[in-house]
Amino acid sequence: MSREQKAVDRARKAFSTGRSKPLEYRLQQLKSLRRLFVERQKDIADAMMKDLRKSEFSTPLYETMGLEGEIDLAVSHLKEWAAPRPVAKNLMTISDQVYVQPEPLGVVLIIGAWNYPWAVTIQPLIGAMAAGNAAVVKPSEVSAHTAKVMEELLPLYVDKELYPVVTGGVAETQELLKQRFDHIFYTGNSVVGKVVMEAASRHLTPVTLELGGKSPCYIDKNCNISIACRRIAWGKFTNCGQTCIAPDYILCDPSIQDLVVEEIRQNVKEFYTENPKTCPDYGRIVNQRHYRRVMSMLDGCTVAVGGDGDESDCYIAPTVLCDVKPDAKVMQEEIFGPLLPILTVGSVDKAIDFINQREKPLALYIYSHDSKLIKRFISETSSGGVVANDCLVQFSVSALPFGGVGNSGMGAYHGKHTFDQLSHLRGCLIKQLKMEGVNKLRYPPHTAKKLGW
Ligand code: NAD
Repeated sequence: MSREQKAVDRARKAFSTGRSKPLEYRLQQLKSLRRLFVERQKDIADAMMKDLRKSEFSTPLYETMGLEGEIDLAVSHLKEWAAPRPVAKNLMTISDQVYVQPEPLGVVLIIGAWNYPWAVTIQPLIGAMAAGNAAVVKPSEVSAHTAKVMEELLPLYVDKELYPVVTGGVAETQELLKQRFDHIFYTGNSVVGKVVMEAASRHLTPVTLELGGKSPCYIDKNCNISIACRRIAWGKFTNCGQTCIAPDYILCDPSIQDLVVEEIRQNVKEFYTENPKTCPDYGRIVNQRHYRRVMSMLDGCTVAVGGDGDESDCYIAPTVLCDVKPDAKVMQEEIFGPLLPILTVGSVDKAIDFINQREKPLALYIYSHDSKLIKRFISETSSGGVVANDCLVQFSVSALPFGGVGNSGMGAYHGKHTFDQLSHLRGCLIKQLKMEGVNKLRYPPHTAKKLGW
């Protein structure tokens, strides 16, 4: 039996004991998980520094504080989330109990990505635990230091049979995918998303696919361009552009392109100094393979800001590209790096058409003072989520379902949505063996007279 198979087997056996189900146990596990983030902050931050050059401030800000918040939310609402949910009754069920009972699915497989390795791996785990499941956690091998710390620390804080960590790369993940799970929660790119879904289909296992895509950013020429560009520059260059909901490219009127470039240039200087390479707040590309992938996207583009890189240090400068053509290499796939192409469009109609001709993105950003224009974008396009006049912050709003649509994924999570996503919402109808008279119409023989027709 392989290591992966053993871990799944143990998790299933532990789930079968029923110990993950009582609310007290779920709460105790969640609170213990929270302690990990308080007590082992340094181990977590050190690994993140090695993996992605994340600063000592960026790890709590972008990863662990959000997780602590999600745990607190689950702990304070668990009783309510797990309780029976009464639904509307009709004439036939007026004296019955009619409700939805959330129940655990069983053993969940969580496959995480490397860009925010704690956030995207542990956030689904919080929901899996809260919903009473067992979960096998597979962190990304690409953020190797973090995967090692997760493998070492998680068993010290949570039930190691119910929530095992399995490390490894493609071979290990594929071995895991041969096993039978009750749900697979995958975060990563769309190509592997299809591999995961295919494997899941063999066991009719439902999947949540948190994928990526090219998230557009439309800037209305009449808006406060200075504030818009400040927010975009932050959203794009945080974590060196390796954020699934980072603005991928800008669409704007040709008349404001120069101003947009200048504003972003100023913001880059203010955030990361004249020399971002030496700035502790500016991260690195995760490895040389991705460095080469991102740098190759510069082919044929006009660089307005940045454009330089250092392969030995996986450094790519915050970069703005202007007058980019739709057929440029940088526009063919998700950038996932610090390159920000600007494409000019002559009208709102053309911007909307441009978005609609491509795969549905994970996020869509509109910067405008005009609420009618914002609503128009919302009604005439589709994306996983949409934000007006800001970016990235939707990830921190637990009440909003976070997930993609079409090529950017399926299923959604965060807060109660994770709980629901990893529960079976079981329809329950409890009648009594009384009042048989009301049923007489349904029993044959059916006659027009009996039915009153
Ligand atoms: P990655 O390379 O870490 O892969 C993700 C996981 O898939 C890893 O655990 C890896 O072991 C596994 N994997 C890789 N190849 C596999 C294969 N052939 N078969 C089976 N398993 C395999 O991460 P990535 O895909 O480079 O991550 C970046 C992508 O993830 C971007 O597209 C980004 O937008 C997306 N992303 C989405 C979200 C979201 O919440 N929607 C969050 C973060 C990242």
